[in-house]
Amino acid sequence: MTKERFKQLLKPIAEGLFGPQGTRRGPEMPHYVIRPVGMIVEDLCRIPEEDWAYYAFSREPLNGKFNDEQRLDLTRQAIACGREYAQKLADQYRMRDPEKLAKQLGLLVDFPDMPQNTERVLFAEFREPNKMHIYMDGVRKGRALLSEPGVPHALTGQLDIVKLLIGHELFHWVEERYKKEIWTRTYKIELWAPKPLHNRSSVAVLGEIAAMAFTKELNALPYSPYVMDAFLVYGYSPEAASGLYEEMMRLAGRTARLPEEDPPAALPEGETKGEPTA
Ligand SMILES: [Zn+2]
Repeated sequence: MTKERFKQLLKPIAEGLFGPQGTRRGPEMPHYVIRPVGMIVEDLCRIPEEDWAYYAFSREPLNGKFNDEQRLDLTRQAIACGREYAQKLADQYRMRDPEKLAKQLGLLVDFPDMPQNTERVLFAEFREPNKMHIYMDGVRKGRALLSEPGVPHALTGQLDIVKLLIGHELFHWVEERYKKEIWTRTYKIELWAPKPLHNRSSVAVLGEIAAMAFTKELNALPYSPYVMDAFLVYGYSPEAASGLYEEMMRLAGRTARLPEEDPPAALPEGETKGEPTA
């Protein structure tokens, strides 16, 4: 892989982990102050699940159709939906391990190094009707970061990156199987159409939020799996991950920290250095 190609591939990575959700693809990535990975996960793991609402919706093409109150309300419903199906499957099959559950449900999971289609770099992918790819290059890079200072404490011994990714993709299979009744698919918004036509659309991000809640529940994680967006990107680009961290913190109503060795003069205009929010 050439250096140029690698740079190109980082752009979509920095825009979201689990799918083609980028809506703001700029020509050049701005520069960000690089934080230690331990600081990033420590702060992001403290963000409660529903406070990820605005970050999640910022990746939604129909984001502009909603106000903040609706974004928060829909996020809560999507979380409830993901949890409900995780519980339902765990009870029905008497297992919570996402990898075993996927096998039990007839999914074919494989573990290639990288996506064959190099147009976008993903960490995992569900392909209808029953295939799932977990890309091990990103997983290995993530595992290498698990021993960095502060990371084991923040992410806890509970984290198994592969099982987390399988759990997320498994929800997309669940959505297909229950598409007539599952809330993430039955919820629609009315888009403009000339009378008397109707143009009703489902909202893709609801499936993403629910998939995160689903895998959070199966893996019994105390933090939102959205943390992995920044964590796994860090394995490829600490700078892109630091940019994501800033954006995530801002959208969750928090102040991003700067590395301790950084002088206060480097603070962006209008921002104060805050203590991490509990
Ligand atoms: Zn997804």
